[in-house]
Amino acid sequence: MKKKDVIIIGAGPVGLFAVHQLGIKGLKAVVIDNLDKVGGQCIELYPDKPIYDIPAVPECTGEELTKRLLEQIKPFKTEFYLKDRVEEVHQEKENWIVKTNNKEEFIAPNIIIAGGVGSFEPRKISLKESEKFEGKSIFYAVRNKDDFKNKNISIFGGGDSALDWALELSKFSKITLIHRRNEFRGSEHTLSAIRKLEQEGKVSIKTPCQIVSLESEKELKSITIKYDDGKTEKIPTDVILGFFGLIMKLGPIAEWGLNMNKKTIEVNPENFETNKKGIFAAGDICSYPGKLKLILSGFHEVALASVECFKRARPDEKYRFEFTTSSKTIHDRLGKK
Ligand SMILES: Cc1cc2nc3c(=O)[nH]c(=O)nc-3n(C[C@H](O)[C@H](O)[C@H](O)COP(=O)(O)OP(=O)(O)OC[C@H]3O[C@@H](n4cnc5c(N)ncnc54)[C@H](O)[C@@H]3O)c2cc1C
Repeated sequence: MKKKDVIIIGAGPVGLFAVHQLGIKGLKAVVIDNLDKVGGQCIELYPDKPIYDIPAVPECTGEELTKRLLEQIKPFKTEFYLKDRVEEVHQEKENWIVKTNNKEEFIAPNIIIAGGVGSFEPRKISLKESEKFEGKSIFYAVRNKDDFKNKNISIFGGGDSALDWALELSKFSKITLIHRRNEFRGSEHTLSAIRKLEQEGKVSIKTPCQIVSLESEKELKSITIKYDDGKTEKIPTDVILGFFGLIMKLGPIAEWGLNMNKKTIEVNPENFETNKKGIFAAGDICSYPGKLKLILSGFHEVALASVECFKRARPDEKYRFEFTTSSKTIHDRLGKK
């Protein structure tokens, strides 16, 4: 079990800035996120869109903001556990124990839940029989493209993920790209490259249609799709890749005994503590009178929560408020001369 001062659940902008606020106070944090990358909504939902209301940054995209936050916390050499969903939280005397779906375990006197709107999870094929093929021949992400060589692959979706993987995997597999609309949302450039491959007979594009059944013996053999005009077609398929977008699920957070208010966690706005001592919530997931779901509000919330985390992690030390401009201790922690 790994011992830390603070366990941060969620690597969105608020979780990342929490690392900074804890780090300048000399506290060691670990960050856990269900996704395979940091940045939360900024990266998953609007990486290229400009944000105009980050103080002193007139304009930056979701991706740029994430990069800047990572740059700012570099001195703290924080450990990130990605693709790890926090499932369980329970108390052991003055500490909290956190367990993830990948069986990682952490212990700390403090937890900051910066879980946003919950964990992002892939939208899945709605056919009941698809469950038993999940992770064997049905996937919602590509971890290692070598696993997808020399196969008949049916790729579902109309966004960039579907188009990018159709193009990439067509180098060594037979691809059928299937979408429920005629129009694709992904990049024009990638789509025209795929259309060219279609003319060369290397990729098939099927629209507007949806999957209606899977045919298998022991393994997946084929799928049947149905067009909007009612016609059906069977497509030989060893592997299905589904890129139907993400859904946000509050998930296990709702089961940790915290006072909830419409899928958010109630906090005391003086220190952002929940009804459980040592568990804090900040960012989009917390609620209190007047709460604004803005990044800058989350930054303020973790600044205050980090003071309370210090008091619990260092009960024998007195907390001293210091400016970053003039504190020698903070300069040392940031590696500044
Ligand atoms: C299109 C769009 C535009 C926006 N524009 C602006 C803007 O201009 N200005 C502004 O201030 N705000 C804007 N926002 C809102 C802003 O993005 C959110 O306020 C901000 O992302 C909240 O940050 P967060 O860190 O609290 O949560 P999130 O960014 O939601 O991150 C939470 C993270 O927690 C993870 N997580 C949740 N549960 C678990 C679990 N059990 N285990 C592990 N990980 C978990 C999730 O996977 C996620 O990565 C916009 C939002 C959208 C959708």
